[in-house]
Amino acid sequence: MLNLNQRENKLFFEELSLEFLAQQYGTPSYLYSAAHLDKKVQSFVAAFAGYPTTICYAVKASSNLNLLKRIFSQGIGADTVSLGEIKRALKSGCPPEKIVFSGVGKSGKELKEAVRAGIKSINIESLFELELLGQIAQNSGQKVAIAIRVNLDIEAPTHDKIATGSALTKFGVALEDLDSLRDLLRRYPNLQLKGFACHLGSQIKVFDPIKTAGRKLSEIIKKYIADGFDIEFIDLGGGLGISYQENEKAPSIKDWAHALIEVASSLNLELVIEPGRSLVADAGILISSVLGIKKTKAKNFLVIDAAMNDLMRPTLYEAYHHISCDLKDKHGSHDALYDVVGPVCETGDYIAIDRILPDNIQAGDLVAIHTAGAYGASMASNYNSRLLLPEILVDGDQSQLIRARQTYEHMWANEIDL
Ligand SMILES: *Cc1c(COP(=O)(O)O)cnc(C)c1O
Repeated sequence: MLNLNQRENKLFFEELSLEFLAQQYGTPSYLYSAAHLDKKVQSFVAAFAGYPTTICYAVKASSNLNLLKRIFSQGIGADTVSLGEIKRALKSGCPPEKIVFSGVGKSGKELKEAVRAGIKSINIESLFELELLGQIAQNSGQKVAIAIRVNLDIEAPTHDKIATGSALTKFGVALEDLDSLRDLLRRYPNLQLKGFACHLGSQIKVFDPIKTAGRKLSEIIKKYIADGFDIEFIDLGGGLGISYQENEKAPSIKDWAHALIEVASSLNLELVIEPGRSLVADAGILISSVLGIKKTKAKNFLVIDAAMNDLMRPTLYEAYHHISCDLKDKHGSHDALYDVVGPVCETGDYIAIDRILPDNIQAGDLVAIHTAGAYGASMASNYNSRLLLPEILVDGDQSQLIRARQTYEHMWANEIDL
C-alpha cells in the first residue's frame, strides 16, 4: 500500500493521519487515495498507449460514482455486468461507445436498455441470450454490436470462487456450441458480430493462461474471419493479479500489456481489456476501531468494528489483507497471534486468522486493512442490520466524503410498515 505511511509512530494516509480521518468520519470507513488511483489509471493508459486499445474498467470492483468519474475522465471505458452498472457508468460520464456489457444472465429489460443506450458491445454468453437479443434487435429495428464471450476451458491458478475460465464454470459460450452459434447468427441480421471475448478469472499472477487463451481465441477468430465476419476487436478480459502480501509476486501492468498487445497485433485487431482489481485495489483501505480483546486458552480475539458484511473477501475467498495498527501505547511491544474478528454473528466473520500483531494493541486503537479498494465497499451488505459504510476520497491533505454512512431510516426505507 503506497499511500499509507508511518510518521513519528502515527499512520498517515496520503497527508492525513488516520486518527484525524477516524475522528472526522467515524469508523469503520473506506478510504481511497486519489493520488494512487490516478497513478494506476495513468499506468494503464501509458502501458497500452502504443496500441489501439479500449480499457474498460470492471465497475463491479469498486463502483462509487465519484471514483468512476475520476477513472472515466481519463478516457477509460466500462465493463459492466448489470443494468445498474450501465446506469452508473453513463451517469459518471462514460460514453456509451466505451461500455461493454458482460454477464451470464442478462434479462430482456437489461438487454433492451443496453440496445437503447447504444453501447460498444453486448458480450453474449449463451445461445439463449443470442436468441433473446436477436429478437430484441429485430423488434427495435436497430443494429446491435455484439461480441461472443467464449469459455475456452482454461484453468488459471487462482481461488476456485474467482476462476471463470474452465468448462466447469457457468461463464461464456462453450467451445462445442460455437458452430450452432454461427448458424443462429445468420438468422439475426441485426446482430453485428464485432468481437470475441474471454475472461479467465481474477487475481491471476502468471502469464501462461492468458497466452493460451490468446492462442485459442485467435484460432476461433481466424475461422470466423475466413467465413466473412467483419471482426474488429478481441477482448481479453481482466484478471491481472496484484500483491496482497509482501512476498506475493504479480506481473507488472507493462508486462501484462505486452502479452495482450502481442495477441491482438498478430490479428491486427483492436484490443479491449477489462481490468478491475488491478486498477483500484491498492488505492483503498478500510479503517476500523478495536472494540476490545478477548484472550482465551485457545485464542486471542481482536474484536474490531468492521465485519464480513463490510469486507467479504476473507470469508468468501479466504483472502489475505495486510493489517497495520495505529497504537495509542507507543511503548515497545512484542508479537502476539490474533484472530481479527468483527461483531457479526457468524463463525465465518473474520478479517484475519492467526495474524501476528503487537501485544499492546488495545480498545480504541485503529487498524488499517490494506488493499481494500477492490471488491470491498461494492460487495458490502446490510447483514445483521449493520449500516453500509461511508467512502472517503483523500487527496493530499484534503478529504471528501463521497458516500455518506447509511442511516437506519435508509436501511429500512423500502420495507413496508403494514
Ligand atoms: C469481474 C470481471 C472483470 C474484472 O476482473 P478483475 O480480476 O477485477 O480484473 C473483467 N471482466 C469480467 C467479465 C468480469 O466479470
